Amino acid sequence: MSDSTTIIEKIASNADTSAEAMAVLPNLVGLSREQLKEKVTALGIEGFRANQMWQAMYTRGATDFSQMSNIKKETQSLLANHFSIARAGVSRNAVSFDQTQKWLLKFADGNEVETVFIPDSNRGTLCVSSQVGCTLACTFCHTGTQRLVRNLTPGEIITQVLVARDGLGEWAGTTGKTKTQTHGKITRETPDRQLTNIVFMGMGEPMFNYDNVVAACRIMMDSDGLALSRRKITVSTSGVVPRIRDLAKDVGVNLAISLHAVTDELRDVIVPINRKYPIAELLDACREYVRLVPSRRIMFEYVMLNGVNDSPEDAHKLVKLLEGIPSKVNLIPFNPWPGAPYTCSSNNRIHAFGRILIAGGIASPIRKTRGEDIMAACGQLKSMSELKKGQKVRL
Ligand code: SAH
Ligand code: SF4
Repeated sequence: MSDSTTIIEKIASNADTSAEAMAVLPNLVGLSREQLKEKVTALGIEGFRANQMWQAMYTRGATDFSQMSNIKKETQSLLANHFSIARAGVSRNAVSFDQTQKWLLKFADGNEVETVFIPDSNRGTLCVSSQVGCTLACTFCHTGTQRLVRNLTPGEIITQVLVARDGLGEWAGTTGKTKTQTHGKITRETPDRQLTNIVFMGMGEPMFNYDNVVAACRIMMDSDGLALSRRKITVSTSGVVPRIRDLAKDVGVNLAISLHAVTDELRDVIVPINRKYPIAELLDACREYVRLVPSRRIMFEYVMLNGVNDSPEDAHKLVKLLEGIPSKVNLIPFNPWPGAPYTCSSNNRIHAFGRILIAGGIASPIRKTRGEDIMAACGQLKSMSELKKGQKVRL
């Protein structure tokens, strides 16, 4: 499938300078509104300036205080002496023949994560990372072969959205198609956005970086900022049961569950966190989620592994398991990576599996593989700087 002539890949020159800029002074990206206000008032600046800064950062995409035109020059300099609002550096940016786009971001400490933008006819989804690596070791996942290096901060999660919006050129005030958006009393012209949805399906297990993921979701959902509704944000988990309940109460965004198996026997092997939180407990938490966040379907992800989890019996069992849970099952063709111990189920087998789910009343789209030529597909994200297989958390 790969067609190297259609790939635009550039090694960006700003990676080191921008990562350094992030390091020198405390960065304000990723603070809550309240935290931002505390920081500016501690410098003797009026509290309402924090709201102006917030808008500049999250609706106009400011990367420098000098771009905050409604704040006077002396105040801009005072801020610039104490803080930064620089993005992470972009080490690499690749665009697939299918327009999927991947950014390799470099943070101040040299760690890198990937962010992927997947455009579709009616939406554009940004797949963000929540950790550098992952402590879990799902056997089909490339990220799972990389040891956890660390959690991302809220700012490092938000910077992924900001870099994507920079790349797509969709800040308020930029040229291009616009539409009028009204939030409360505020009406503004915003670009007709390509980036409409966010999924936490990049590197890492978001529920193991819970506080920072929730803080980032709140910033994404701020109606006078990035303005993504909770219905447009999806947190995907391999099944950290206690955090599922917390997520319902704290932000109520969409929930995706990486299920991948219908028996504990198999799931214990391919999604090892199952040994701690088995299927029945996981599905109970899902039932509770839809009670706490009504009118929401749970999205179950099911990677199709040839001869492992793809039989008609498995499909029938899945229908039974999901009884009573408003759900949708995403059938994900397994994306191979070098050394992977599985192959992808055949098309026939995937379709047969899907037909059984549909007959059982469950919507079950087959996910198209996107960005194959740039290694941007599900589960393939892995920092090129960290290729060692390391120690895993024991469950
Ligand atoms: N840790 C979280 C979120 C990141 S993984 C989770 O596991 O849900 C995002 C999705 O990609 C998960 O459903 C995961 O199971 C799937 N995935 C991982 N490796 C894959 C692969 N090689 N092919 C297809 N899907 C994969
Ligand atoms: Fe971690 Fe998710 Fe990959 Fe499992 S599938 S190793 S939880 S990133």
